[in-house]
Amino acid sequence: MDDALRALLDAGLAGTGPIVVMTGAGISAESGIPTFRGEEGYWTVGSEHYHPMEMATQEAYRRMPEEVWRWYLYRRSVCRKAQPNPAHLALVRLERALGDRFLLVTQNVDGLHLRAGNTEARTYQIHGNIDYLRCGDEPSSLRPVPLAIGEDWEAGSPFTEEARALLSCCDGGRFARPHVLWFDECYDEALFRFESSLRAASAAALLIVIGTSGATNLPMQVGAIVAERGAPMIVINQDPSPFSRFAERSARGAFLQGSAGEHLPPMVEHLVQHA
Ligand code: NAD
Repeated sequence: MDDALRALLDAGLAGTGPIVVMTGAGISAESGIPTFRGEEGYWTVGSEHYHPMEMATQEAYRRMPEEVWRWYLYRRSVCRKAQPNPAHLALVRLERALGDRFLLVTQNVDGLHLRAGNTEARTYQIHGNIDYLRCGDEPSSLRPVPLAIGEDWEAGSPFTEEARALLSCCDGGRFARPHVLWFDECYDEALFRFESSLRAASAAALLIVIGTSGATNLPMQVGAIVAERGAPMIVINQDPSPFSRFAERSARGAFLQGSAGEHLPPMVEHLVQHA
């Protein structure tokens, strides 16, 4: 690790605010979960091929709820079979070392951060969790996808009567919906920790951004706030992104191009040793 990177990490430790880590699909790529960029993401309904940005919408759900559920149940089975990788485990170590100074803001719905051992209290799942469903926007209806649904949904599995019943709301007829934020929906505090994430960005002593392309709104706001404040920012990503540009323009920023598994563990080691 070079001196400039070490200095940014030390500046984060010397500050008073939280050390905020913001993750995207890239951190889970090494666990075998496809990001939204690759060909693997496409889904076929009849003769149409849908991009995830079309499937993950309220509009698609209204038009074809069973197809959208089939897609989520398939993606959920991919997530359930995946295991946390060294980058996820490094963040568990970091939380244990920093305690209340640690905050994780994740766009991932795969639940791998929590399965690895990060705590719910310090993990904001700002796009939800694919293991949960809810009835409309009612936070009190949030509950795990029933165990009886099983975790083995192949891409071609048909939607069964049993699944239809298990995924219904308690009031009968209505379908529950996956607990995820769709591309045509807005963030809020109760379900997605919107204001809390912005507050964390305003106070962050250091922001570490990992594996996100910058295509979503709240993460971009978090990055912009930290960049505007000139607070230390480190970006790990395989490709350049709006976040890498924030970091490169800042006097206290660094862009580490490459994988999360390669760059994150040594940084965490340094932070843990000096916390
Ligand atoms: P994205 O697919 O738009 O971008 C992923 C980024 O990660 C890319 O910039 C890519 O270069 C980078 N990347 C790929 N492999 C990497 C690695 N090994 N190490 C570091 N970087 C790597 O994903 P996004 O920015 O998170 O946003 C898109 C939306 O996709 C979000 O709403 C998110 O909820 C959803 N999503 C989630 C998952 C998941 O939960 N695992 C998977 C796919 C998509």
